[in-house]
Amino acid sequence: MTNRAYNFNAGPAALPLEVLQQAQQEFTDFAGAGMSIMEMSHRSSIFEEVNDGAQSLLRELFGIPGHYKILFLQGGASTQFAMIPMNLLTPGKTAAFVHTGSWAEKAYKEAKLFGSTAIAASSESDKFNRIPALSDIHIPADAAYLHITSNETIEGTQYAAYPDTGDVTLIGDMSSDILSRSVDVGKFGLIYAGAQKNLGPSGVTIVIAREDLVAESPKTIPTMLRYDTHVKNNSLYNTPPSFSIYLVGLMLKWVKERGGVAALEQFNRDKTKLIYDAIDTSGGFYRGFADMGSRSLMNITFRLATEELEKQFVKESEQAGFVGLKGHRSVGGLRASTYNAVPMESCKALAEFMAEFMKRNG
Ligand code: PMP
Repeated sequence: MTNRAYNFNAGPAALPLEVLQQAQQEFTDFAGAGMSIMEMSHRSSIFEEVNDGAQSLLRELFGIPGHYKILFLQGGASTQFAMIPMNLLTPGKTAAFVHTGSWAEKAYKEAKLFGSTAIAASSESDKFNRIPALSDIHIPADAAYLHITSNETIEGTQYAAYPDTGDVTLIGDMSSDILSRSVDVGKFGLIYAGAQKNLGPSGVTIVIAREDLVAESPKTIPTMLRYDTHVKNNSLYNTPPSFSIYLVGLMLKWVKERGGVAALEQFNRDKTKLIYDAIDTSGGFYRGFADMGSRSLMNITFRLATEELEKQFVKESEQAGFVGLKGHRSVGGLRASTYNAVPMESCKALAEFMAEFMKRNG
């Protein structure tokens, strides 16, 4: 197929062509049922197999220990910003945050609605161009948990290593880097991610949580916002986003066929190196936004000398078949999102385009 764009969208984002083609093949008749997965009861054995299969494949690929629950929820990662404090911020305790940028801020502000909060470290004075040093993170004595944003999608920064929080529960928003690299899940009490960047389409949010944290929620919380509701019902308390879960399952199979997460991590390193090299060898024509030690493998943010030149870059890149390179409106500049499904070919083409654009405008 030749009409696929060089898709660098920040989310929803590129999906593997193979995954889309398989979904297309099964679209009107799934597993010989005479209907699509969308038309089927979520209580049917076929759908239960899809639901359980996606869960167990995620457990296998991401190395999720047996005492962790996997939930498929709705409402996006943004709903987790509220569900986490509602369920886990116990009275008299503080929710602590590492403030790394736009998404950390949203999580922090939402938690404020529910109780005491604190900033354990921040890179705001550097316009969030880096992840704070782990040694600069100060967790308050009364912390219920420490919340981190493992990859800041808008600024293009990513943790190189995660903090050790001892007895304090570590919570990670991995919306923009889940399954893109190996993670010691056991370090975290809870990990959450919207699926629409690395795991599939929008519509389903993955929550991975240590059993003891989600077994019993405070009784005053509405049913749908309680973790224990979804734990007790295997994420089937109400009608789930069945088509999204099915596609996540296909995406997970694709990851497995490619050799799993470690192989994918190497692939992500190799493909982003092409673009970071184009920045670093440009003699300052392209300027990477993130500090070297905090560079993201998922969102590559960079600037040009003037906003005018950036606009021209976006315009010409679009004419050349690239999509999604304009930076987020809150920070400007340019951004290439290079999630799991973005092929090497797209990154090669972008690196070549960048070199050629520089030749003409440098
Ligand atoms: N956290 C991060 C790091 C994100 O990148 C996003 C989405 N771009 C969100 C949270 C919010 O996700 P959703 O749109 O699924 O609510």
